[in-house]
Parts: sequence; C-alpha cells; structure tokens
Amino acid sequence: MRQGTEASVLVVEDEEHIVTLLTYNLDKEGFSTMVALDGEDALLTAKERRPDLIILDWMLPRLSGLEVCRQLRRDSGTRDIPIIMLTARGEEHDRIRGFEHGADDYVVKPFSTSELIARVRAVLRRASPRAGNDESLRFENVVMNLAAHRVSRGGRDIHLGPTEFRLLRHFLQNPGRVFSREQLLDIVWGHDVYVEPRTVDVHIRRLRKALNGADEVDIIRTVRSAGYALDIHTPT
Ligand code: CA
Repeated sequence: MRQGTEASVLVVEDEEHIVTLLTYNLDKEGFSTMVALDGEDALLTAKERRPDLIILDWMLPRLSGLEVCRQLRRDSGTRDIPIIMLTARGEEHDRIRGFEHGADDYVVKPFSTSELIARVRAVLRRASPRAGNDESLRFENVVMNLAAHRVSRGGRDIHLGPTEFRLLRHFLQNPGRVFSREQLLDIVWGHDVYVEPRTVDVHIRRLRKALNGADEVDIIRTVRSAGYALDIHTPT
C-alpha cells in the first residue's frame, strides 16, 4: 500500500464546490485524487482503481453514502479501503449508523479542510501497518499485495500466471534462502503432482521475464547445482 504523500484518495460527492475544494487541497498536500459524483460511480471507481482511502458523502444521488459503504465492505476487493464519511448530519445516531456500516471516521459539514486532511492522514496511518504486515510482501522494490493478488515493481504493475505468483510468494516469504528444484516442486505444485524438475526452470524463466524490466536488477539468483533464491546479485 502506498503511504503518506503518495496515497490516492477517492472523493465521492455530488456538490461541485465541495469536490473542487477537496481535490484542490488534497492535490496541494501531495495526494493523488479521483472523483465520483454518485454512489454507483463510487462503487465502480473503488473496484477498478482501488484508492488508498475514500472520502464518502452521506447524501448522494442513486445510492446513499451509507449504502455505498455497506457494499464496499461486502466486496473482498474493496473491504479494506478506509472510509471517512462526510455528512451534514451531526446527530449521534447517524454517526453510529455510519460506523456500523463500516466507516472508519466521520466528519461533519461544514468542515475545515485542514481538519479533514489531518483525519485522512490519521486514518491512513492506522490502516497501513495492517496492510503492511498481513497483506503485503516486499523485497527491494517488489511489492506483492496478497489480498488484491497484485504484484508491482517500482510502481509498475506485473502480471503473473498462478504458478509464477505462488513461486514469487514463496520467495518473498523466505528472502535470501536457497531452494532446490525439488523443494520448489513440493511447495508450489504440491507433493501429489508429478512434475519434472526442469519445469521449475521454465517457470523461473517466466517469472524473471515478468519481474525484470530493461534496466532492473535480476532479483532471482540461480545457485549452480543447488536451486534458486530471491536475492540481489552482488557484482564481483
Ligand atoms: Ca452530497
């Protein structure tokens, strides 16, 4: 998950002057912003672009903010995106309903932008250790998001087949350790499946090809007659 000033925020609001005010101030603070003007658009944008945080207005055309919140929480792809509800209603029971439907925080209109941005930072800080520990694996500039099943290197999305994904996940869980072809077969393909050891080489080759861009260091080390490891080549 991106953190701090690189985080992306989806602003869901139908009132244009509030959208302008929020995107202007978020941009100025170094966030990247996206906008949805109604509830349905919010659901689509959240699923397709997976923002790091959503500022969600309560009163929206098509679907209410509360319903959007509820649907985002039901979908495994958007379940973990933190949500700050924005609303003109300040009553305690509405606040509780918002939290019950999965909002992480709540800001009452009219609000000060600096307070809202402080809340955004606080919610992101709370959310990122969870994502960092449980859902993401990292090595150098390679990040694997387990929940989203996505891999990137230096911000570039990397598309892997299921076998390459499992191989890389195993390497990321054990950086620096050397695994023989037989070990990798057991771990990645399972004991019951008969696969020739050289199949491992084919998938390692595919994984390398996907991971290593033109100017990038190869992070998979071939250990002669031993196997493979996730490691940085040390030039000699
Ligand atoms: Ca509104």
